[in-house]
Amino acid sequence: MRVYKFGGSSIGSAARIRHVAGIIGSGLAETRIVVVVSAIQKVTDMLAEAASLAGKGDGSYRDRIAEIASLHASICTELFGSGEADAWLAGMASELNDVAGGIFLLRDLSDKSLALMLSYGERLSSWIVGRYLRQAGIAAETVDARELIVTDGNYCYAKVDAHATESLVRQKVHFLDTVPVVTGFIASAADGSVTNLGRGGSDYTATILGAALHAGEVWIWTDVDGFYSADPKRVPDARVLPDISYAEAMELSHAGAKVLHPLAVQPAMKAGIPLLIRNSFNPAAPGTRIEEAPEAVSVLPRPVTGLTSINRVVLLNLSGSGMAGVPGTASRLFTCLARHSINIIFISQASSEQSISLAILPGQASMAKKVLEEEFSREIEARRIDPIHVRRNLAMVAVVGNKMSGHPGVSAQLFETLGKNGINVIAVAQGANEMNISLVVDSEDEDKALNCIHESFFLSRRKVHVFIAGTGTIAKSLISQIRAHRSTLQEEMDLDVVVCGLANTRSMAMDREGIDLERWHEAMQPREDRDGIEGYIRMIRELNLHNTIVVDCTASPKVAEAYPGLLQENISVATANKLGMAGPWELYRRISDARRKSNAKFLYETNVGAGLPIINTLNDLRNSGDKIICIEGVLSGTLSYIFNELRKGGRFSEIVRKAKQAGYTEPDPRDDLSGADFARKLLILGRELGYRLEYADVECESLVPESCRGEMTPEEFLDRLSTIDGWYAEEIAKAGAEGMTIAFTGELKDGKAKVGLKRVPLESPVAGLNGTENLVVFTTDRYLKTPLVVKGPGAGGEVTAGGVFADILRIAGYLV
Ligand code: ADP
Ligand code: ASP
Ligand code: MG
Repeated sequence: MRVYKFGGSSIGSAARIRHVAGIIGSGLAETRIVVVVSAIQKVTDMLAEAASLAGKGDGSYRDRIAEIASLHASICTELFGSGEADAWLAGMASELNDVAGGIFLLRDLSDKSLALMLSYGERLSSWIVGRYLRQAGIAAETVDARELIVTDGNYCYAKVDAHATESLVRQKVHFLDTVPVVTGFIASAADGSVTNLGRGGSDYTATILGAALHAGEVWIWTDVDGFYSADPKRVPDARVLPDISYAEAMELSHAGAKVLHPLAVQPAMKAGIPLLIRNSFNPAAPGTRIEEAPEAVSVLPRPVTGLTSINRVVLLNLSGSGMAGVPGTASRLFTCLARHSINIIFISQASSEQSISLAILPGQASMAKKVLEEEFSREIEARRIDPIHVRRNLAMVAVVGNKMSGHPGVSAQLFETLGKNGINVIAVAQGANEMNISLVVDSEDEDKALNCIHESFFLSRRKVHVFIAGTGTIAKSLISQIRAHRSTLQEEMDLDVVVCGLANTRSMAMDREGIDLERWHEAMQPREDRDGIEGYIRMIRELNLHNTIVVDCTASPKVAEAYPGLLQENISVATANKLGMAGPWELYRRISDARRKSNAKFLYETNVGAGLPIINTLNDLRNSGDKIICIEGVLSGTLSYIFNELRKGGRFSEIVRKAKQAGYTEPDPRDDLSGADFARKLLILGRELGYRLEYADVECESLVPESCRGEMTPEEFLDRLSTIDGWYAEEIAKAGAEGMTIAFTGELKDGKAKVGLKRVPLESPVAGLNGTENLVVFTTDRYLKTPLVVKGPGAGGEVTAGGVFADILRIAGYLV
């Protein structure tokens, strides 16, 4: 024999009820079936709302009841034809109106009346399902659990009298030769008044019946494929657990896994009856099997079974210098709360005994504060104990597993993941059975915590969520590189780089599941916020995804200004924008400070020499104890090109014109010839070496002649520039006569940085550059006679994007 329990969504419509009849029919082909039903989806909530309105003297409770009646009426009409169930439904609705009317008149909603109100949900649904089964040719009859389940008088969360219940169930259900359709959730006290088994209690009804009837199995039919490693509605990557032990199921459901009522495991466990969680929407899915020692559990070393959360808790803190070493404080605390039926979800006390933290449900917080302040009033007055501190808007996340005990490293892994994602843990508790580590975090961080913990413990493939600022050349190349390389990264590194955001000042695309990079243009929507980078960051923050990386592909000082804030929030940054590291010292200092304090990473390899490994090389040298004596070279692709061409012969202004045509220069070539961009790179390297340099400290020789510095168009400028062609030709010739040539180079030595024209030997590496190549020469203690040289293309969308991509992967490597 099996017990089948159907949840509210499984019988949420006429079509669903027909479908359920099919499931029951198939079950009957194999064995005897006892059915337990919940109220139809949402009905219990609607009843609770109607009751609460009536209790407040609000006449609109009648509308709620009318809605409930019409919901059932439409299902009945669809199942039985019009008018068939009218009389019965009218009778139920009128009873319900009478009960609510009484509450309304008294303006008093007691637990007793609430329990009675809520009982109508299951009474309505069981009648409908029973009648439909008969119509479908299955001999079935509705059984009211008030005649089976005996409880104490705790109306809304009643305690079951197992003994009395067992014999009633045997008497009244065992010998039925029809399929009983039993109301879930409801029961009755010894005096006959209606009680409830707590929200979600139909699961419990099912296992109570299963145990009393010695069922072979109890199947809980719900709307998901089984017991998942985490709530699939909050953690999209959650997996179905094929089998778990009773102890694990109990721990998970107590810690908030709504799929199973916390008390439901016990009767099944005691009677040794396997519990199955199945999806009525997908009966083909095998579901989850819960039993004593499932095979997989004993074979697989699985330290963590699942994660759960309770999404609104309040933390009460009892603290004070007078608590330590005073026996009885904790006992008074708990006794006082118990006396007022305040349920404690979580307890934590540090060994200093100076404070005890408790998590409770928000509805009980004010009451708890009041009664505790009364209880400890003398101590509070004498300042031995502080006034009770209440902290709201928190969530409790629990990591559960029966193999966590004796498995070192679980907490380390847990806290490391949370730390890297900047999730602040407000309180922690782990019981000595080591089956559950519970954490209290800010409500805002609940989903992020669940997702990052889940990824860390359950998935071999890790995700990083990338948000790109800017959609110019570099961003475009980056997008196509990520698109082209994503599947290789998934396969080879088990890493998924998901681009969740793209924005420029005018438009934006954002999708937590990832933007389709084949069609990102189409996803871009005009921005109404006009809020620049702040608006974008606000949205990134609101999404609050784990492993978030912001990628700056702009050249905007505003975006650079945002780095310290991002780092403070533990959001990592990869940037191709120089205006942070080469910005004013104050900004640089704030970024550096934030980097030190942050758990997030900040990488900017492409700020100098685009994709060339310059900053990493410099840091590797320094970190391994080498001493940098001098850094020199060519760090401007444009200037490199101009002088490389000049050396081959040719007029200066013509070469600049050609460079502009080839797209090697800024729109106004004076921006390159001024040497400013080059100077910024040297500034970054100088700061990297620890020098406190401002931009103005970099000695920078501009190649823009005095006569060309005023207001003029780039064209006019190029025309005027020809006046100095002769000078360059002469300089090259003069230098050539001495075995030298000229180049525009930079040098960083003894804390001084300068960029400008310089004579260099013809055989020097600078003189041998081609095209837009960059070159950096590191002279160090270790690389003294033969300096270390990094050379290659130092500009261009592709190589810069490649450098940014590499930074993203470095950050990913750290995060996951
Ligand atoms: P029913 O109406 O069938 O009793 P519930 O809403 O009470 O259904 O429980 C099913 C829901 O529990 C799922 O839709 C899911 O969102 C939630 N849930 C929370 N944690 C888990 C988990 N670990 N595994 C499966 N479902 C979970
Ligand atoms: N109908 C009740 C509730 O919504 C019981 C249940 O669904 O199991 O809480
Ligand atoms: Mg349920």
